[in-house]
Amino acid sequence: MRRIGAAAAKCGRSPNEVRLVAVGKTHPPETIQAAIDAGAVIIGENYIQEARAKFDALIHASVQWHFIGHLQSNKAKYAVRMFDLIHTVDSVKLAAEIDRCAAKAGKVQAILIQVNISAEASKSGVATSEVITTLQEIHAFNHIRIKGLMTMPPFFDDPERARPYFAALRGFRDQIAAKKIAGLELNELSMGMSGDFETAIEEGATLVRIGTALFGERQ
Ligand SMILES: *Cc1c(COP(=O)(O)O)cnc(C)c1O
Repeated sequence: MRRIGAAAAKCGRSPNEVRLVAVGKTHPPETIQAAIDAGAVIIGENYIQEARAKFDALIHASVQWHFIGHLQSNKAKYAVRMFDLIHTVDSVKLAAEIDRCAAKAGKVQAILIQVNISAEASKSGVATSEVITTLQEIHAFNHIRIKGLMTMPPFFDDPERARPYFAALRGFRDQIAAKKIAGLELNELSMGMSGDFETAIEEGATLVRIGTALFGERQ
């Protein structure tokens, strides 16, 4: 958290503009509790099954839960039940299912649209050529609120090589904002992980998703 503050200050941003998502995948509830005790207020999880056990164990903790893994439509109802923000919506079909579950639960589900900036076939996310139309279709759902965009660049040892992908996501957001679509405000940019979050913050990240740098290597 100190490094987040320093990275924000270095590029003239307020540390309050950048929030840490403590990524708990593979770690037991006790480890997550220790992170909460140390000041973490957002927990990120990748797998519904694993998240459910921790969510139940930490039901009284006052934290936000964010889903950052790949979400299958048939798990949408669990995601809607547990998560304050779903970072990884990558199709109108998935959004439709989230909308249906959220309506049933009497909730407006906050989401981010995952964008496949690098156009790697192996990566999830909406293709850049389809982001605008996908966003407009999802924006029409009554029980979903789109809060911003998320991306995962390819893995590089040198974080500088990830910078163009972060800059591209921010550019996309600005381009969409310029269209002034009624009721749509894309304030959040979820980008940056342990190896490259400082670069992501310089390029405008508002949510950095960090596991290893907090908890050590996963088993
Ligand atoms: C695991 C994971 C992270 C955290 O990665 P670290 O390199 O351990 O910080 C961030 N985002 C997503 C989508 C992840 O799956």
